[in-house]
Amino acid sequence: MNILVANLGSTSFKFRLFRFDGAGTPSLLAKGGYERVDDFGRAIDDCLAGLQAGGHVRSAADVHGVGFKTVLGKNLTGCVRADARVIAALDGFKEVAPAHNPAYAAGIRRFGEKLPGVPLVALFETAFYQWVPDAASRYAVPEAWFQAGVRRHGFHGASHKFVAERSAELLGRDDIAGRVRKLYQAGPSPVASGKPPLRVISCHLGGSSSITGLRDGIAIGSSLGLSPQSGLPQNNRVGDLDSAAVPYVMKTLGLSLAEVERQMTRESGLLGLSGVSNDLRDIGAAAAQGNPRARVALDVFAHSARHWIGAFLLELNGCDALVFTAGIGENNPDLRAAICADLDQLGVQIDPAKNDALRGAEGEISAIGSRVKIFVIPANEELVVARETVRCIAASN
Ligand code: AMP
Repeated sequence: MNILVANLGSTSFKFRLFRFDGAGTPSLLAKGGYERVDDFGRAIDDCLAGLQAGGHVRSAADVHGVGFKTVLGKNLTGCVRADARVIAALDGFKEVAPAHNPAYAAGIRRFGEKLPGVPLVALFETAFYQWVPDAASRYAVPEAWFQAGVRRHGFHGASHKFVAERSAELLGRDDIAGRVRKLYQAGPSPVASGKPPLRVISCHLGGSSSITGLRDGIAIGSSLGLSPQSGLPQNNRVGDLDSAAVPYVMKTLGLSLAEVERQMTRESGLLGLSGVSNDLRDIGAAAAQGNPRARVALDVFAHSARHWIGAFLLELNGCDALVFTAGIGENNPDLRAAICADLDQLGVQIDPAKNDALRGAEGEISAIGSRVKIFVIPANEELVVARETVRCIAASN
């Protein structure tokens, strides 16, 4: 079975083609992408033609399903067939995720036209947070706001789900890994009695960052809230911000609401703090040369990560493993060291040599004797989307 995973941005389309033979890990047949896309239909045609020319599929009929990592839908989450209901749900929240929802709605429509009869599946990034308790997901807003969908939805669900499953395997808890694997089909199945709860804190640190606490593989909260511009500072999007800042700058700096929105989504985050770049590599280089704003950006990022790790450490009553994933989590030992500094009383001790040596690969970086294991687990969101797409198609056949 060949599954195409489509990753859509407002002007970008990236894809991966997986082949599933039996129950093992699928093979990645092809990957690629397009930037500055102004016609998704043409990009999709080009992608399908390229897959045929490369010998990966004989014809479009050889694509047996397409999976989409949709961001958030109004009154809809989970892993579902990407039909008119999904397009309406994406449309209902286009104001909250303007860079992604319209792109996914357009992409799903175009794939439906180009591949008639091929099952399309949407795995919402919010799906992983369906079991977060109200206490961790409600904002203190009027009831009408809540009814309109103003609450913490949580994102990066595919990434944190992969970490939940893989960290359980690394910790020898195959029962929990299996529980996570079938979560979207079966819900949270009961955990074998007599086993201690598995407590993991997953840090997805990249262009977009979030931290999630996992109890027995299930998310108990997220640093991301209503939209993907909350929690930690993002690349050029603001993270947590006091809501009073918006009316204040509108009144005192004379900014329109549209301009405030633009600045919060394009000129804030690591870019706004550093004034250098939205990429932590450039910021690190500038800080090393003595740029004080770049130094502040790194410090704010690490402080915010520690703030959220601390929150989940308390909720989970300690943790068994702290996991770093995504571009920064996988490749930036300095940030990992800053985040793990001076936590020995909480059982977290990083091994400096192992940490420095590990980039872009899976491994353990905790010191011998550290009560909390510290792992790097490379992100594998597309694999999660592909697997869930297969399961969703099988369940609806
Ligand atoms: P992501 O959104 O997961 O692709 O992560 C993007 C961020 O990861 C950027 O801020 C980069 O600085 C960082 N990053 C990605 N690759 C590397 C690398 N090889 N070395 C250092 N940082 C990296």
